[in-house]
Amino acid sequence: MATTTITRSALRGLRCRACGALGPADERYVCGECLGPIEPEYDLASFEPGALRRDIERGPRSLWRYAPLLPVREPGLRHAVGWTPLLPAPRLGAALRVERLYLKDDTRNPTLSFKDRPVAIALARALALGLDTLACASTGNLAGAVASAAARAGLRAFVFVPEATEAGKTASAAAYGATVVRVRGTYDQVNRLCGRLADERGWGFVNFTLRPYYAEGSKTLLFECAEQLGWELPHHVVVPVGSGALLTRTATAVAQLRATRLAGGEHCHIHAAQPAGCAPVSDAVLDGWRSVAPVRAPATLARSLAIGAPADGDGSVAAIRESRGSAASVDDDAIRDAVRLLAATEGVLVEPAGGVVIAAARELASRGVFHTGETVVLYLTGNGYKGGPEEIPLRPVIDADADAFAEAYGEVAP
Ligand SMILES: *Cc1c(COP(=O)(O)O)cnc(C)c1O
Repeated sequence: MATTTITRSALRGLRCRACGALGPADERYVCGECLGPIEPEYDLASFEPGALRRDIERGPRSLWRYAPLLPVREPGLRHAVGWTPLLPAPRLGAALRVERLYLKDDTRNPTLSFKDRPVAIALARALALGLDTLACASTGNLAGAVASAAARAGLRAFVFVPEATEAGKTASAAAYGATVVRVRGTYDQVNRLCGRLADERGWGFVNFTLRPYYAEGSKTLLFECAEQLGWELPHHVVVPVGSGALLTRTATAVAQLRATRLAGGEHCHIHAAQPAGCAPVSDAVLDGWRSVAPVRAPATLARSLAIGAPADGDGSVAAIRESRGSAASVDDDAIRDAVRLLAATEGVLVEPAGGVVIAAARELASRGVFHTGETVVLYLTGNGYKGGPEEIPLRPVIDADADAFAEAYGEVAP
């Protein structure tokens, strides 16, 4: 039997989420009719499910295996983003009382966070448009992802971060050759500045002018989870929320897997995890599905989630409600404890955003949200080696002397 190989993207155009107008995939980044947010739309009915699945399974071991469901072609940089492991987590599961628990370990991307995914798609788009500069507003991880991708493609990069961003994140972005602009203020202030600059400069601002493409990279986490579960949707996914792009595109991914008949399953509930010091989405969900109220002064250890006015905030609330999911918000002590619990039970070290997800899962489990036999996937989006371990207390330094060891460590090594 002849097999058809699907190499094209099924992109049909860019659809406005506000007024519904479908426009061409040109350089615009908001709707030409109403200035609403636009996102790629695909001709999903054009795929024969068996052929599509076979093509994906034969594809590269990176997010580019899902090329038919992405809006751009792989630019040939071989940066190895994505296709990260889905780890069974029985020891953590026992501690949280969740029977079938999995960790999507996305801390192993080139710059140690899931942000390499949206940036891979934004970069491909920037190259297709012939741009020579990438830029972004970042809570920390995006800065490194943009800086590294720009270096690999030979572009200039400008990354804007709040002054309080962890040194490991700003220093690594600078090492990749980016111009790191530290701004006095919150992420939302940085974001507004970048919104102004994006209109003035011809730069590829990954989270403004390239946002419709950028956000598409976030779909691939759920695509991978479904494929790694043998083309089944998980029953639950717990997603950390900053701007809400990852959460809303997780819902898009579920819809696209169903529409192409690549994966099924009774339900896939999407749950938001946020730190109590900045929880605009979780608060809105838990407060009767109201609209999102901005948090003016975020205060949390989980700086990568400190976005008080999330671009996809109301979209996240709607997506959670539609999936019949829920939300949790957790305080800094719970986040610290969760980082250590995960590391000590499963050998995976995450930054505080990962602690937010583990602590949120603990709370959702204690509320009886997960049922026996259901698969629960936790997204681990940032590596602990980039920020956070300095929070872990250490025992005292000793002299190079066996007696000093016995004295200081006798209780753990009797
Ligand atoms: C940016 C970020 C998130 C949140 O992603 P959004 O798409 O902005 O909601 C989650 N975890 C980490 C580690 C991040 O850097």
